[in-house]
Amino acid sequence: MNSTVVTFPHGHVSGRSTIVGAVPVGERHGLVTTETPFHPLDHTWPDQPADRGTLGGLVVVDCVTGALSAGGEVFLGPDIPVRRGTAGWEWLVVHVTEEPVALGAEVDLVADAAHRAGLSAGHTACHLAALALNAALAGRWRKDVAADGLGHPDFDQSAITSSRITPYGSVDVYRLGKSLRKKGFTAEGLDTDQVAAEANERLKGWVASGAPVRLDVPGPELTARRTWHCALPEGEASIPCGGTHVRSAADLGEVTVELALGEQELTMHTTVHTTVHTTVRA
Ligand SMILES: [Zn+2]
Repeated sequence: MNSTVVTFPHGHVSGRSTIVGAVPVGERHGLVTTETPFHPLDHTWPDQPADRGTLGGLVVVDCVTGALSAGGEVFLGPDIPVRRGTAGWEWLVVHVTEEPVALGAEVDLVADAAHRAGLSAGHTACHLAALALNAALAGRWRKDVAADGLGHPDFDQSAITSSRITPYGSVDVYRLGKSLRKKGFTAEGLDTDQVAAEANERLKGWVASGAPVRLDVPGPELTARRTWHCALPEGEASIPCGGTHVRSAADLGEVTVELALGEQELTMHTTVHTTVHTTVRA
């Protein structure tokens, strides 16, 4: 088995391919094809949920990342002992079904386009919200820190502990501990309403600008190092990303964030208020 060729980075939601592997997933069947439009949950940074849909007419109840070792052993999801894309391993999209399908069978793969559209909108909004948050918190840094694509101190990359994409939204959690203070960030007297209002103002402008979004795809395999790009009025922003996206900030209609401050963390809820028309490509 070779690493699975993935077509979701190009926006595809359907395809046809051959079953080249079958691994047990508890009582269920983990089916691997040569190529797939399905986005699996990543095991290293599980931000975007798995696609839903069907394989050969069977419901795909889950879709996970698999890793095939040089010794021929397949590990799934959290059991994978190495980081995403480690050399010497084959990286697989594993479609989980209740029924088996024979090796060598040719099957239609159909991902749920409406669910994908919601996740793509949520994911693009998540990246834009991170950039807007960086801008709104820029004045709180007392030391030089790595900047984002727009030249603001990268609070998002410095402090993020988890990111969860949902249909038309995301939840990002940032740690405000000692290590962030040492890097020069102060959370003292942080007014979450004011920071959110500033971020929302910026997001409004970006959506109105209709900034185009594209993914740089350096290779066809699941773990290729893809990068999200958005040509914003202030400049081109880029963020490493394994997920799916809409094609323009305008597709989001309206994006707002809410911030909640805890003892040691800041949580950002991002919401896309209008639904995206699904784009289906063969
Ligand atoms: Zn991403």
